[in-house]
Amino acid sequence: MTAISLPSNAQENQIQIQNGKRSIPNQPIIPFIEGDGCGADIWRATRHVLDTAVSKAYGAQRQISWLEVYAGEKALSKCNTWLPEETLHAFRTYTIGIKGPLATPVGEGIRSLNVALRQTLDLYVCLRPVRWFPALPSPTKNPEKVNMVIFRENTEDLYTGIEFASDSPEATAFKEILKSHFPQQYEKIRFPHSSGIGIKPISKEGSQRLVKAAIQWALENQRRSVTLVHKGNIMKYTEGAFRNWGYEIARQNFADQIYTQLQYEETKKRRGEAAATSEMKAAQASGKLIIKDIIADAAFERALTYPQDFDVLATTNLNGDYLSDALAAQVGGLGIAPGANINFETGAAIFEATHGTAPDIANQDKANPCSLILSGEMMLRYMGWNEAADLIIKGIEGALYNRTVTFDLYRLMENATLLTTSQFGNAIVENM
Ligand code: NAD
Repeated sequence: MTAISLPSNAQENQIQIQNGKRSIPNQPIIPFIEGDGCGADIWRATRHVLDTAVSKAYGAQRQISWLEVYAGEKALSKCNTWLPEETLHAFRTYTIGIKGPLATPVGEGIRSLNVALRQTLDLYVCLRPVRWFPALPSPTKNPEKVNMVIFRENTEDLYTGIEFASDSPEATAFKEILKSHFPQQYEKIRFPHSSGIGIKPISKEGSQRLVKAAIQWALENQRRSVTLVHKGNIMKYTEGAFRNWGYEIARQNFADQIYTQLQYEETKKRRGEAAATSEMKAAQASGKLIIKDIIADAAFERALTYPQDFDVLATTNLNGDYLSDALAAQVGGLGIAPGANINFETGAAIFEATHGTAPDIANQDKANPCSLILSGEMMLRYMGWNEAADLIIKGIEGALYNRTVTFDLYRLMENATLLTTSQFGNAIVENM
């Protein structure tokens, strides 16, 4: 029995991707997962805001045909499984979708539904824009200097979940192999008997498709630089290789449009620092994209002290996880930061709230819906419906400017008015 009911116009309103180009019908079918916990509250407000923005921008000419699909607790109660095959099928068929937060099943086979969705659909880029909205309370002095977009690799690294618990027979067997085949490496394990083991696979294909997507996106959006963030000083053949493969694909595919830190270093070695600096400035002045790299720990320091140095950041999975939350917090936006998981080759994408299910405030019409609304705004832009997306930004800026906000921002702002989730959605609509 199927839990999903398809709209009558299912075939003609399917988003198509041909030769890398998206063809968006006027009434595209877009699957959505409401999400667990606060998901129902924030989805209700989000749908209202997205539908209103589309209708204000295009009248009756365009409208989204929403298709509810299930995952998480709602899927468990309706379909007796956390992630039904038909949900994956819907995302594959309709290409672009959106989701609220999902609870992580405890003690089940699936480690995380989000990771499962990203890996099954091969959504290899986790795209997280980090920008400050005027009036948004921030813990830093100059949040207006932060305007970054993080491209986090989404399918590799320690997130593949290849791990062996310390006392397990698997860990013992693995360590035996290590001991007999790679005795020098085995000797490096400080406490071999009680060590758990985790494996960090990072590939050339995985790194290069991520960096290529970041550069392509930066060029299309007239950004200034792409910084490769890595921990290659310690992990040479994974993180260091990510950096080297990144520069390689940059050179191979975009030679005429970029200037790299490696070129700068080379000129500096041959002709001195002044010559290298003037070469880089000339490249910038001619509109070339700068490709540079930085060690991950320095990136955290620099993002706080000189945020204006960073524009687009491309990084491995675990670095990206830490970095995207840290940077979002810097602009006071952790609760409102949007996100998208995208396969830049097929065009498949799922836009998502980046916070969790907030069980403590679930079903109280209290949660801040901005993260999901801004994810919807990214989705509209991805579809080329920029007029509707612009209206959403205008609406959010207006609501924040008027200090009409949900409880999380209310407690950080002076002279603010406290709104429920649905009232906040209405305030955004009123300010469009
Ligand atoms: P959480 O993000 O749900 O909550 C952390 C804190 O932030 C809580 O105090 C919560 O009330 C607050 N908060 C979160 N969203 C808010 C919003 N929209 N408005 C106002 N306040 C908000 O993180 P958690 O408690 O660690 O995780 C709860 C569940 O969510 C877990 O099962 C976790 O695995 C899951 N999770 C899912 C996602 C996702 O689906 N992308 C991300 C993170 C965590």
